[in-house]
Amino acid sequence: MGMKAMVYGAFGERLREMVMPDPAVLDGGVVIRVRAAGVCRSDWHAWQGHDPDIKVLPHVPGHEFAGEIAAVGRGVRQWRAGDLVTVPFACGCGGEACEECAAGQAQVCPRQYQPGFSGAGAFAELVAVPSADFNVVRLPEGVSFAAAAALGCRFATAFRALVHGDQAAVKSGEQLVVFGCGGVGLSVVMIAVALGARVLAVDPREDAREKAKGLGAEMVSGVDEALEAVRVWTGGRGAEVAVEAVGRAEVCALAVRSLRPRGRMVQIGLLLGKHADPVVPMGLVIARELRIIGSHGMAAAAYPEMLAMVGDGRLRPERLMGRVIGFGEIPGALEAMTTNEGAAGAVVAAW
Ligand SMILES: [Zn+2]
Ligand SMILES: [Zn+2]
Repeated sequence: MGMKAMVYGAFGERLREMVMPDPAVLDGGVVIRVRAAGVCRSDWHAWQGHDPDIKVLPHVPGHEFAGEIAAVGRGVRQWRAGDLVTVPFACGCGGEACEECAAGQAQVCPRQYQPGFSGAGAFAELVAVPSADFNVVRLPEGVSFAAAAALGCRFATAFRALVHGDQAAVKSGEQLVVFGCGGVGLSVVMIAVALGARVLAVDPREDAREKAKGLGAEMVSGVDEALEAVRVWTGGRGAEVAVEAVGRAEVCALAVRSLRPRGRMVQIGLLLGKHADPVVPMGLVIARELRIIGSHGMAAAAYPEMLAMVGDGRLRPERLMGRVIGFGEIPGALEAMTTNEGAAGAVVAAW
């Protein structure tokens, strides 16, 4: 026996299709037969060696996926073979003694497990997920594997950042500026518009700005003129909410500067490598009483609210999906990210 998987043996080395042993079924866990998986910039960063979580090579990447339960471990109560499911990229430990998991905040569990980073991921026929009763999400009727795979990372993170009361809690009529119109930035545009917010979308690429407009952004701007655009758009007040969806130190500072007094800034773009410790204008944070909020995924327990908005058509994540590719095209899709600075839209491999 064995399964097909895409593997790299060294950082930056081209992924190769290999036959690997089937993943073990852990007590409390499940093994999922992958039916679609997103190719994300986080996979690219990890492949380039930017992610300290990857300690063991060779490695199977892939953290955005949906599929069918293939095997169920001892002690699992909610799941049966054949159930159609997806999984957030950050799985909580689910332990009763874990304060974060007990509070429903698995996305910041100190012992979280991330398939495709902490262990073998979803660019394979099978992937193991621990604490299944805690981490696995049932797919409602009408949500395709591909759309669900596109939900688990960028879209869910954007949803939590904007919707939840302990995050930005965006309200109807508020003015929100989003910096970056890649996969996560366009998710922000779609969700903000669905919440009734007004959106200014910033990106250096014209095609990305056009996509933002197509999703309902009221105004768009390049990066260099972004602060002036915010000034004009808000009558000199500044935005109520700013979202950094790129992961660049200088853009993080721009987002803070774009806010009006008491504004909220959400950092979603992953700050890695030389961008890990941005210089933030803290003088402004004090003078304007700004709030800076980090957002890191979303726990499985919070998915039903998002899936309900997908089910009734208020959110249409399938509009953010890029080209659907086959399993054999995954190595090329990752390589394309090296030259193509953040191709907008999710790429999902379906098989
Ligand atoms: Zn991702
Ligand atoms: Zn935990």
